[in-house]
Amino acid sequence: MTDTTPTLQCDYAVLGGGSGGIASARRAAQYGAKVVLIEPDRLGGTCVNVGCVPKKLMWHAAQIAGVLADAAGYGFSVGPHRHDWAALVARREAYVRRLNGIYRDGLNKDGVQLLNGYGRLLPDGRVACGDVRIAARHVLIATGGRPRVPTVPGAELGIDSNGFFALSERPASVVVAGGGYIAVELAGLLQALGAEVTLVVRGERLLNAFDAMLGDELRAACSHHGITLRFGRQVASVTKPDEALRIALDDGQVLRSEALIWATGRQANTEGLGLAEAGVAVDATGHVIVDEWQDTGRAGVHAVGDVCGRVPLTPVAIAAGRRLSDRLFGGQSDRRLDYRNIPSVVFSHPPIGTVGLSEAEAIDCHGTAAVKVYRTRFKALYYGLLEVKQDSAMKLVCVGPEERVVGVHVIGVGADEMVQGFAVAVRMGATKRDFDDTVAIHPSSAEELVTMR
Ligand SMILES: Cc1cc2nc3c(=O)[nH]c(=O)nc-3n(C[C@H](O)[C@H](O)[C@H](O)COP(=O)(O)OP(=O)(O)OC[C@H]3O[C@@H](n4cnc5c(N)ncnc54)[C@H](O)[C@@H]3O)c2cc1C
Repeated sequence: MTDTTPTLQCDYAVLGGGSGGIASARRAAQYGAKVVLIEPDRLGGTCVNVGCVPKKLMWHAAQIAGVLADAAGYGFSVGPHRHDWAALVARREAYVRRLNGIYRDGLNKDGVQLLNGYGRLLPDGRVACGDVRIAARHVLIATGGRPRVPTVPGAELGIDSNGFFALSERPASVVVAGGGYIAVELAGLLQALGAEVTLVVRGERLLNAFDAMLGDELRAACSHHGITLRFGRQVASVTKPDEALRIALDDGQVLRSEALIWATGRQANTEGLGLAEAGVAVDATGHVIVDEWQDTGRAGVHAVGDVCGRVPLTPVAIAAGRRLSDRLFGGQSDRRLDYRNIPSVVFSHPPIGTVGLSEAEAIDCHGTAAVKVYRTRFKALYYGLLEVKQDSAMKLVCVGPEERVVGVHVIGVGADEMVQGFAVAVRMGATKRDFDDTVAIHPSSAEELVTMR
């Protein structure tokens, strides 16, 4: 039967008002394209509403808790104090709502038409959103992802990262299941804000996707902060016989805690998008398959961000989305995102900054003989006046006779603000000699990166 529903004509239909979708839509509109953006929920997507932004605000709160604990070492007498979780959450959510408004204003300013609802592809190439039909020259799938929860009995008694942000009170005790960056971030900040935290990790190491040194150092730091670590185990079942959850692990051990947070990975939002019927392929993990130009197999249909599963970070989604619009609407035919050397930070306690290849990856790519590694371990000056000290550790991974620096890995105070600049150097092909020839900033932790021997 022919669909006679009136059709909205535009240049670009964007499904998803998160990091990638908004960035791409606005860039296209700035080139003069007529753009329609479809979003069923609050603008800003995961990052703004239940990801980077609220997470970092919670991390700042946790940092302040640390500073209060350290204050006596610097001569302050800090009287008894308490933390009001509900007040923090209320202020955080007000901030996020302001951001939602700023995103709406940005779209209005650039003339992007916003439709509230779920978008889906139709087999004839148009896009549907409720009763509206949209015919666009190009379509962008930027529908992101959501937490994946294991299918063990009683899994629904736990919460995921979205549920964490909805907590109106701090649980007294929490089991966090997972060993990736979201797991260690949530575990660290809950512990710093007074919860008793147990981290249950399936593998034998934290942060498997990173240089091994970072996971090992973080493991020591977590123990030092009082987080209980259980490696090589998984949650087998969850029940709630009384006020507390009863969390059975697969080795027979039973943990009791007020809350359980699943931080066991994320999955792409592709269901209901009509992808198969529209000829857009997904891989075995459900992510949309794109080439290096962010093009799917169907002409005129593109995808960026977490829905593609490649380096799922906000700045990656934004950069891929903007470059795509530069290419499609800005006449820059060779514009695309280079996925190498993308820096990232883990907001753990202490934080981690990293860019480039891990030592193991460098050996895989270049062979053991070609790889030279420089390491350092020290206590930051901040701890000079404190009884309880924490280590910082750094690693430079270099390759070839010229010792090109292909990896910079840092854990310790200030690591979160340290690596962005070094990422420029790595991208430009800096050698160990360039690092050595750079005059240090003293006294700082970062100076260790240019004084390693
Ligand atoms: C707890 C947590 C912490 C994080 N911390 C960081 C961090 O510190 N730094 C960092 O870089 N990244 C971080 N991330 C990752 C970051 O949030 C994502 O990489 C980023 O949001 C991906 O952007 P996106 O545009 O691909 O998807 P999203 O931001 O998820 O946006 C997708 C949008 O599509 C919408 N949508 C879904 N289905 C449809 C449909 N059918 N039609 C229309 N719209 C639809 C959704 O409602 C959503 O708004 C974190 C993530 C989490 C969960």
